[in-house]
Amino acid sequence: MASLVESTWTYLINHFSDFQLASLGSFFLHESVFFLSGLPFILFERLGWLSKYKIQTKNNSPAAQEKCITCLLLYHFGVNLPVMIVSYPVFKFMGMRSTLPLPSWKVMSTQILFYFILEDFVFYWGHRFLHTKWLYKHVHSVHHEYATPFGLTSEYAHPAEILFLGFATIAGPAITGPHLITLWLWMVLRVIETVEAHCGYHFPWSLSNFLPLYGGADFHDYHHRLLYTKSGNYSSTFVYMDWIFGTDKGYRKLKALKSGGDEVDHKQM
Ligand SMILES: [Zn+2]
Ligand SMILES: [Zn+2]
Repeated sequence: MASLVESTWTYLINHFSDFQLASLGSFFLHESVFFLSGLPFILFERLGWLSKYKIQTKNNSPAAQEKCITCLLLYHFGVNLPVMIVSYPVFKFMGMRSTLPLPSWKVMSTQILFYFILEDFVFYWGHRFLHTKWLYKHVHSVHHEYATPFGLTSEYAHPAEILFLGFATIAGPAITGPHLITLWLWMVLRVIETVEAHCGYHFPWSLSNFLPLYGGADFHDYHHRLLYTKSGNYSSTFVYMDWIFGTDKGYRKLKALKSGGDEVDHKQM
């Protein structure tokens, strides 16, 4: 496995420049992972597959789904790609490298765990700030246009928000000056995580059933289906920030009612 990764990497650095890999390579990888992980949920919703695991009873119309995809392509090519190109010198300055040897699994996993924790912290405060009246009205309400989220809505947001919360994503790598492969793995995991949080389905095999501190779809879906002043659940990945700062009270109350056998159907909330 390690030698396969190393030979693939050797091929890449022999055929492409550092700049091509860091900007265009990152963009291509992001688009592939994002659409491949998000598109199946559009199909599930349209065809009614796995509907017993769907969190809300409401479905998005095909027109609403298509509008989301069109906007995403526009923003990805019009905002994300130029940002990835112009931020290349910044990442170089921060110590990013693509040369051999590759970092060890231990270094990569430690760095990525640190990125997740830092991102969650920055995202929590940034997201709470976006829920203040003016910012919500003019910026964050775009992301909340979809009260019944599906995978691809995870990146459906005002360009100002993409830049603002994108800072949370790159804060960790900017501090540690990582290897490009670590940066790519972080990006892949973060995309899969946010697509899952917005997918609209809670499966018996969902990660949040096994990882106690992990939020997942059930946690973030609650944030989308409630009024913006009442929602809480501001974190991106973990649940402890909302618990520490008391912004998950409504969600916990609902969970307690449900596990207490009360006949509250959260699909109606
Ligand atoms: Zn929000
Ligand atoms: Zn969201």
